[in-house]
Amino acid sequence: MQTTLADSFRNTPDGDTAERILRSCVHCGFCLATCPTYQLLGNELDSPRGRIYLIKQVLEGTTPTAKTQRHLDRCLTCRNCETTCPSGVEYGKLLDIGRHLVEKKVGRGAREAATRAALKTGLLSPTLFNSALKLVQCVRSLLPGFLQTHIPASDPAGVWPQPVHARRMLVLQGCVQPGLKPNINAATARVLDRIGISLIAADKAGCCGALAHHLNDSDDGLDAARRNIDAWLPHLDAGVEAIVMTASGCGVMVKDYGWLLRHDPAYADKAARVSTTTKDISEVLVAEADALKRLTAHPAPQRIAYHPPCTLQHGQKLTGGVEALLTQAGFELTAVVEKHLCCGSAGTYSILQPDIANQLKARKLGHLQAGAPEMIVTANIGCLTHLQSGSQIPVRHWMELLDDALAAS
Ligand code: SF4
Ligand code: SF4
Repeated sequence: MQTTLADSFRNTPDGDTAERILRSCVHCGFCLATCPTYQLLGNELDSPRGRIYLIKQVLEGTTPTAKTQRHLDRCLTCRNCETTCPSGVEYGKLLDIGRHLVEKKVGRGAREAATRAALKTGLLSPTLFNSALKLVQCVRSLLPGFLQTHIPASDPAGVWPQPVHARRMLVLQGCVQPGLKPNINAATARVLDRIGISLIAADKAGCCGALAHHLNDSDDGLDAARRNIDAWLPHLDAGVEAIVMTASGCGVMVKDYGWLLRHDPAYADKAARVSTTTKDISEVLVAEADALKRLTAHPAPQRIAYHPPCTLQHGQKLTGGVEALLTQAGFELTAVVEKHLCCGSAGTYSILQPDIANQLKARKLGHLQAGAPEMIVTANIGCLTHLQSGSQIPVRHWMELLDDALAAS
């Protein structure tokens, strides 16, 4: 795609990146077929190609409007289009640049700005979030049914084993997951402990920064990245093997720290080191599959439907690992169509774009439940809570199931 950037963007870091990405798009339109928002809304401007055009126009000097912002806001950042694109267009990076530009020029109305600020403050502060969550969990049974479905019941974590092994890995605790589902990381610690790896958390690490970043607050997102890097580096120097992610939404962000901080002289090298050391838990366990196999005595067969998060399959390009490990552990995975499509969770998207998010959720749950599973499993806290709010059967993280299977052996 030919482009001539406006003088204000030419020869800037973002301008150079955007120009390279724009030139790689050949305008073929293959990406339209797998874009969830284009499938639902049928408008080219709600497709990857349409959004690329909108961003191109802004970079070439056209003044963006609220309509431009609306079409960019409706993107789920699922990156399904990147998986489909035959030309390797790095759509996600271009969208980041476009959204930040449009945010600066168009701004937000008072109500929307307040919602976004409240989301950032509430979700990024574990203390605030956990206090509010505990409060509503106490009165959950008194609330109407439709509200109860949006508030997960409290869920004990179980035992976190003492760090007794020479092999150690770090885990990102994150912001909302410890409050909503503390058992996910505890279950991961138990599984790794059984194969001789201790899982530890760094005290000063916190939110990965993805929520702020996707709310177009890159400063807060990068501050979170720097804080985590400072918390993790001493552990890497002390021989920790990997930084383990149990939420694929956080994983894709931390694996991007090296890219996001590439122009920060104080952090570029450190961020690159953290990114290359970061692994989704499925990557860690695929490498340890033989050790796991020796431990697993097959549990009573359980039919489960697996939902691979976009941040795992499109963002991190990791496919098949979770399914292989669950099958090896004795679970029967039902066939699910449209596995490549987003469930509508997408960070804060389900709160900011509820109409589209709920349509995608209903469609996804229809496919997941078609094979009559006893349970739905996934690999990201956002997908888990979003799907659970519309599902009559339990939705759990796959590490909890693996932990249960090993505990039964
Ligand atoms: S598939 Fe790739 S090259 Fe084709 S229009 Fe979409 S982004 Fe551009
Ligand atoms: S990231 Fe997802 S929603 Fe956004 S344009 Fe690509 S496929 Fe469509």
